Amino acid sequence: MNPTTVFYIIIAFIIISFAIDQILDWLNARHFDDPIPAELADVYDEESYRKSQSYKKANSKFAALSSGFMLLVTLVFFFVDGFAYVDTIARSITDNEILVGLIFFGIILIGSDILTTPFSYYKTFVIEERFGFNKSTRALFFADKLKGWIMTILVGGGLLALIIWFYQLSGSSFWIYAWILFAIFALIMNMFYAKLIVPLFNKQKPLEKGSLREKIEAYSATVGFKLDNIFIIDGSKRSTKANAYFSGFGSEKRITLYDTLVNDLEDEEIVAVLAHEVGHYRKNHIIINLATSIVLTGFTLWLLGIFVSQPIFSEALGVTTPSFHVGLIAFGILYTPISGITSFLMNLLSRKFEYQADDFAKNTFAAAPLISSLKKLSRNSLSNLTPHPLYVKFQYSHPTLLQRYQNLSQAK
Ligand SMILES: [Zn+2]
Repeated sequence: MNPTTVFYIIIAFIIISFAIDQILDWLNARHFDDPIPAELADVYDEESYRKSQSYKKANSKFAALSSGFMLLVTLVFFFVDGFAYVDTIARSITDNEILVGLIFFGIILIGSDILTTPFSYYKTFVIEERFGFNKSTRALFFADKLKGWIMTILVGGGLLALIIWFYQLSGSSFWIYAWILFAIFALIMNMFYAKLIVPLFNKQKPLEKGSLREKIEAYSATVGFKLDNIFIIDGSKRSTKANAYFSGFGSEKRITLYDTLVNDLEDEEIVAVLAHEVGHYRKNHIIINLATSIVLTGFTLWLLGIFVSQPIFSEALGVTTPSFHVGLIAFGILYTPISGITSFLMNLLSRKFEYQADDFAKNTFAAAPLISSLKKLSRNSLSNLTPHPLYVKFQYSHPTLLQRYQNLSQAK
């Protein structure tokens, strides 16, 4: 195979994965106006239903526009040998291969951030604002961006530098060392995410005394979950949308409830949501996810080890000096069919876990308050109640509201 063929295979992969996404979005959008299932008739009144219709349409138009724009920019960048150009710039600054890699990705990330920031700004301050979701300020938006950048430089840069260094030391068997590094990193992040990363963006506080705390205490005692592992987070500083999640394991396990969720729901419903999160913990979902992602990372890195040392991938992108960083770009795109399959399977697993957590809440607490909380949360975030089944299979990490309703309404 010659480099030109590889180049066109890369281009084909970019276009095909874009096309698949667009077809799924289009299929989904064709069902926006479907009648709402009878079981969910009480989610929307006339006015909020109309509002949800225009919210879905605004989002889907915006997604089509922004992804179309990014596809165009990406293709132009490939056809003008953009990677070769950036590589030349990096090499004119330093000879050190690790620094070249860091500068190379630095320039590409800055470039893509400049292009995508106007879109995320529009999404937050125009679309979310218009529908009454946005609570973020311009100052907060840019402060978040800055913090994100600092983290990318420190963490992303650090990991990349180490991996290129491993590659220099051990060639294509670098992947074993990189795998160990990623596994340790994933373990630390999973465990300490709530203590290391979340405080940079949000405040978390323990449950206040009061009737809610007492109800949660009564439930927690029945399933053996300690109350000091439950935190309220100030999600309301960015959006009115509500959420709750379980994270960590061992001594670091915790359930985080958004303050918006606590405000929107009745005490009974909050306990039901909490019971769902305890279900994630009791069914070891975090640990299974972590183990799966470590195995998948190992597989990806092993393949990368085979591919990255082949000069043809650098040549395909018009770069004469073969390098790890350019090989990584080519690999990243050629890997999309595999990552498409793995993300499909991970979504499948995640939806299965959601059913298990719902079942746990149903069996240890009650189904009715969980159903009413899910309906309320759907209403408050103007959720799409009629997604296309194929779209759900590929894109949804949670079952649809109707599926969860049907599962929860079945007898124990
Ligand atoms: Zn869940």
